[in-house]
Amino acid sequence: MSPSDQPSVRLRPEIVALPAYRQGQAAATTAFKLSSNENPFDPLPGVIAAVNSETAYNRYPDASALALRERLAARFDRSVDEVHVGAGSVALLAQLILAAAGPGDEVLYSWRSFEAYPSLVTVAGATSIRVPNRDDHGHDLPEMATRITERTRVVIVCSPNNPTGTIVTADEFEAFMAVVPRDLLVILDEAYIEFVTDPEAVNGVPLLKRFPNLVVLRTFSKAYGLAGLRVGYALGPVAVLDGARATAIPLSVTGVAGAAAIASLDATDQLLRRVRTLTERRDAAWRALTEQGWNIPAPQGNFIWLPTGEETTDIADVLSAVGLIVRPFPEGIRISIGEEESVEKLLAICSDIVDDLPTGHSARRLG
Ligand SMILES: *Cc1c(COP(=O)(O)O)cnc(C)c1O
Repeated sequence: MSPSDQPSVRLRPEIVALPAYRQGQAAATTAFKLSSNENPFDPLPGVIAAVNSETAYNRYPDASALALRERLAARFDRSVDEVHVGAGSVALLAQLILAAAGPGDEVLYSWRSFEAYPSLVTVAGATSIRVPNRDDHGHDLPEMATRITERTRVVIVCSPNNPTGTIVTADEFEAFMAVVPRDLLVILDEAYIEFVTDPEAVNGVPLLKRFPNLVVLRTFSKAYGLAGLRVGYALGPVAVLDGARATAIPLSVTGVAGAAAIASLDATDQLLRRVRTLTERRDAAWRALTEQGWNIPAPQGNFIWLPTGEETTDIADVLSAVGLIVRPFPEGIRISIGEEESVEKLLAICSDIVDDLPTGHSARRLG
């Protein structure tokens, strides 16, 4: 930060030190934007019609998004109060962390994981405890369990994990929940659950009845293609969700977003067919990359993880030069599964890239 960027009023130093939000890089009109895990399909006509018919912009929305909560409650066999809706599941994460953790408290999660977690914890005044991912890029839940202390207030489990695409298995998750204190909030972030095809993966919803300290987060942004309208939901115990409701900025979920979400639930079959197209595209891309010699985790979200390590910046530049806008992290590159043509382009260039990786690089298969 240059001196001229110093705030002129006294802000919390940990807030001033936070990195500004980095949005997935904008794509030139000829490039493919594969940097934010968005859905490449245009909204369905029925969803657009629902949005266009919601015109009472002069009125505040229904504060509790009751109509949408009723639909979700029916779908997941919960009571209406066991459903909470927010302006994206990021908002719900913020609310739950604020409700449970403050200064002196710890929030535990695997790392590398969703980039919003660290700043949401800092904003709450709490401290992040990060447990490194396993060598296979999945969560190390047994190690996370050993890091729970008197000060831990929230544990976040992300399955499939953004950005590595790995899942937590149902067995791993249940073994973890069995040793977590019953008064410690566990958030299972399932932003990509609709893309999961591995039958061993955890699904939080049936576990809600067994674990009174579990909250499951889902979103309309990814599989349902409503990232621009901001709507996500939490399923969990009423008292915990009441805590989140108490920390929420009121009236953030607009009537338009609610109408689009309901229209999307009406079109679930059609939308899940699109999801299927994307998962088939994803699996074909993963098989092709593996055949090229890449050593990458089996993807279970709508994105692929290249653990390129120190070569990350160079490779991201190569991809960008051919019109593929991807998301580099210090440990590797996350690439969303987008238009078919973008995958063809990706496979063509990745075949050259893997041959150029140093021998012994962990993103390269042995032999
Ligand atoms: C995209 C994403 C979310 C939430 O996105 P919203 O648009 O705020 O619903 C939450 N968690 C993870 C891991 C994500 O990748």
